[in-house]
Amino acid sequence: MFSFNNPFGACPTCTGIGFLMRMDEDLIIPDKNKTLYDGVKAFGSSTMKKGETMAKMYFESIGKHYGVDIKKPIKKLPREFLDKILYGTGNEAIDFEYESSIGIRKFTAPFEGVIPTLERRHNETKSQGMRDFYEMYMSESDCPTCGGARLKKESLCVKVGNKNINELTDMPICSMKEYLNSLELTAKERMIADQIFKELDKRLQFLIDVGLDYLTLSRAAGTLSGGEAQRIRLATQIGSSLTGVLYILDEPSIGLHQRDNDKLIATLKKLRDLGNTVLVVEHDEDTMYAADQIIDIGPRTSEFMEERL
Ligand SMILES: [Zn+2]
Repeated sequence: MFSFNNPFGACPTCTGIGFLMRMDEDLIIPDKNKTLYDGVKAFGSSTMKKGETMAKMYFESIGKHYGVDIKKPIKKLPREFLDKILYGTGNEAIDFEYESSIGIRKFTAPFEGVIPTLERRHNETKSQGMRDFYEMYMSESDCPTCGGARLKKESLCVKVGNKNINELTDMPICSMKEYLNSLELTAKERMIADQIFKELDKRLQFLIDVGLDYLTLSRAAGTLSGGEAQRIRLATQIGSSLTGVLYILDEPSIGLHQRDNDKLIATLKKLRDLGNTVLVVEHDEDTMYAADQIIDIGPRTSEFMEERL
């Protein structure tokens, strides 16, 4: 229930993604100085006859129905009319007339609208190429049901203290730890929550130990720096208490403040003391001094090595 990766927990509108890909009017009509003919590129490119497109036929018939001159630039068209073009005419039927290779064809039907048509085609297409094409006209917007929280509302109604899981994971790790420790529980609640709190506290402390106290647990993995991602993996390793493992790290101290660098070094030593080998590629002086062995690779012996020799 508390995982957005699970259908029991996920918000039903966005299926746990937190945002929706929606057709974006500004991307569909990037230039309102153009006319409907060449301003709405995403819509209907199928050719009817000598460069005549299905879109042109639709626009002309709808223009005629509402008595609007569609040769004007889009910005000069009445907003109400543009809404009919973009979002459809609802129940209002339009007389369409077009010329095809077998003569004049006529039919009467409501117009679905450019945006609903594109959204439907995007949903229905089986071709990745076409999906990519439609997605050029879409942008991300917060899910209207969960507001980006990714969980269904039943899950979000469950609170610890006065915060739900989404509010907790939006807090920086250090504040979350403080908040959980400050909760006043009854004896019965304490009995139920004791083990969970112990585990939570330990894991949050691991993350603090590698200098990640400022992160929130809701941060998307893709937005972490290389150093942060490495340190998160380190934090999970300390908790696993494996031994006999070779860890290879590439500049894990990158972007760390001095104070946090000391914590990171302490963490690496802890891993070593558990019975592991830690190999670190690093320019950081403190890390080098902390190492048991140094392999210096370069055109000549560095000052640092000379000093040590
Ligand atoms: Zn949602």
